[in-house]
Amino acid sequence: MRTLLLIDLQPDFCPGGALGVRGGEETIAVANALAPRFEHVVCTQDYHPEGHSSFHQHGGPWPPHCVQGTAGAELHPELRVEPDAVFPKGTRHEADSYSGFADDDGVPTGLHAYLQERGVRELVALGLATDYCVKATVLHALERGYQVFVVREGCRAVELDPGDGDRALAEMAQAGARVVSLDQVIS
Ligand SMILES: [Zn+2]
Repeated sequence: MRTLLLIDLQPDFCPGGALGVRGGEETIAVANALAPRFEHVVCTQDYHPEGHSSFHQHGGPWPPHCVQGTAGAELHPELRVEPDAVFPKGTRHEADSYSGFADDDGVPTGLHAYLQERGVRELVALGLATDYCVKATVLHALERGYQVFVVREGCRAVELDPGDGDRALAEMAQAGARVVSLDQVIS
């Protein structure tokens, strides 16, 4: 069974957000275009407690973002999708989580168990950001035996270094993901 996996489509990762990714808002339309074609849609949600270990103030790499209970941490308001399930990640102070499958210390989010129970073998993935959470989630999905398609137009990259987005897509493809266009998924 095929499932659409929407990764961290949250206001804080879009322009104007706490950790805005250039063009991030353009991924929402891609998700909205695809969702009606899927019987099953699941979302991941970056969802940190205040003062999370990934924030600058605690020596982490990022400005505070996706703080639990704030508007920036919610699923994007323009997302017209009724997900079957939402999997929050990075919810404990001490562990960050780029991957939607497991926190950095290995604690599972529940996504894998959920998909296994439903017999899902194939994931069509998109979201934010290509070079962090999309990459980590896709690599974990491949390790867990899923066939993964990554929708290029549905992803945008942070690009701390120019080219990080393309390198991340190449890394996912190298690991076995198929990087596809929106048209390829729809047709
Ligand atoms: Zn985060």
